[in-house]
Amino acid sequence: MSTYQAVESDFLIIGGGILGAATASYLAQFASAGTRITVLEAGQPATGTTCQAAGLLTRLKTDTAMAEMVGETYTAIERLSQHSDQPLPFRQVGSIHVAKDDQQYLENTAVQAQQLNVEFQWLSPSAVTLQAPWFNQTAAERALFIPDDGYIDPALLAQAYLSEARQLGVKLCQNTRVDNLIIEQGRVAGVRCGEQVYRAGTTISCAGPWSVALLAEAGIMLPMAPVRSHYWITDDSDLFPMHSPAMILADANAYTRPEVGGLLFGLRDQQPVYGDPANLPADLQGYLFNCDPDGFECLESGYERLLEFCPVLETLGLRHYITGISSYTPDGRPILGATDLPGLLLATGCSGSGITLSGGIGRLLAEQALERETFVDDSAFRCNRFGEIDPFSDGFRARCALARSAKRSG
Ligand SMILES: Cc1cc2nc3c(=O)[nH]c(=O)nc-3n(C[C@H](O)[C@H](O)[C@H](O)COP(=O)(O)OP(=O)(O)OC[C@H]3O[C@@H](n4cnc5c(N)ncnc54)[C@H](O)[C@@H]3O)c2cc1C
Repeated sequence: MSTYQAVESDFLIIGGGILGAATASYLAQFASAGTRITVLEAGQPATGTTCQAAGLLTRLKTDTAMAEMVGETYTAIERLSQHSDQPLPFRQVGSIHVAKDDQQYLENTAVQAQQLNVEFQWLSPSAVTLQAPWFNQTAAERALFIPDDGYIDPALLAQAYLSEARQLGVKLCQNTRVDNLIIEQGRVAGVRCGEQVYRAGTTISCAGPWSVALLAEAGIMLPMAPVRSHYWITDDSDLFPMHSPAMILADANAYTRPEVGGLLFGLRDQQPVYGDPANLPADLQGYLFNCDPDGFECLESGYERLLEFCPVLETLGLRHYITGISSYTPDGRPILGATDLPGLLLATGCSGSGITLSGGIGRLLAEQALERETFVDDSAFRCNRFGEIDPFSDGFRARCALARSAKRSG
């Protein structure tokens, strides 16, 4: 029997990554005064997968609800910038989508922009080079520029959501790992952290890739897998000015953006590279996936294609290699909202877009938690949309990893 007195809240949020932080911030804004909201974070906020992200905020999504959620993130960035002492390190430099062979990708992207009312311009290769001096003009005939896109430091954005939440009275418990959910009469009544019990009417799980193991214990099989995302940063060169846009190189399965003098470029694995959700360490640094431990196979197989667009890579050294985990679902959509267990909501499975979607996810989860009408149709994000699955099986994890391989956009 625990000797500790239970801590009572109205809402408990598990995880202080960007999704937990954004959810806390919106919930605190929408809930009535005096509502008790507690965030339980196993370590320090934003030190899980959030701090690994490249921070690209691409507005174009095939799914309208997801595009609206990205719009909400941009609104949140504006609000947070106005309210904080220092402006957020947000660089609204635009993004350029380039394709040589896959012209259909460019056509589809332009149609998406039109449908979503996102401003875009067609650029000639020489106009691309004016903005991104490293770009090989002969590598493509045209490109599509989205001037309002940008990128941001993901950890600082998460911290900004969290500090807004705390100013509104949210309680943050750091170094507080949730061991398991407390289920009473078929409903989640709170969580247990060692000896300490936290009780709440609604618990919201935002535990990133660790969610799979945590919720499996309560009988919920999350349809997602820890899939590798990685990028490299080159040595410095004058060819990578900070005002250059982000680039999506669809044929090369790559994206780029400037990073303090160098070029950051990410390549998507074409073979399924995934981890084991049953055994994820708390510290993901140096995490080893099922194959290709140093990313070299991926770099080798994608390099020739990348060089066509960025020939200067041949003469530059690589300064950093960052590898991390993205939680992917088979359809690339996040998992949001209610579960089969009353009293439990969740937000995860962002498939490489958790920073981009953070404002929208925070708003949606807050609306769901307060049982309000939601600002987007949430039906495509249900946890049970794939039927019965086993997130620990090799077959399912490979299926999720291949969803990442097939991704072309940012
Ligand atoms: C290399 C790389 C590049 C990426 N680039 C982009 C990008 O450009 N744009 C973009 O939008 N997204 C990008 N992503 C994806 C993005 O990082 C994620 O979608 C996002 O960070 C998910 O946030 P989260 O809050 O769900 O997870 P996390 O940040 O992992 O947060 C989960 C938190 O829960 C805590 N936790 C876990 N278990 C427990 C427990 N039992 N009790 C209490 N706390 C717990 C953890 O400590 C952690 O802090 C990238 C990812 C990687 C790896």
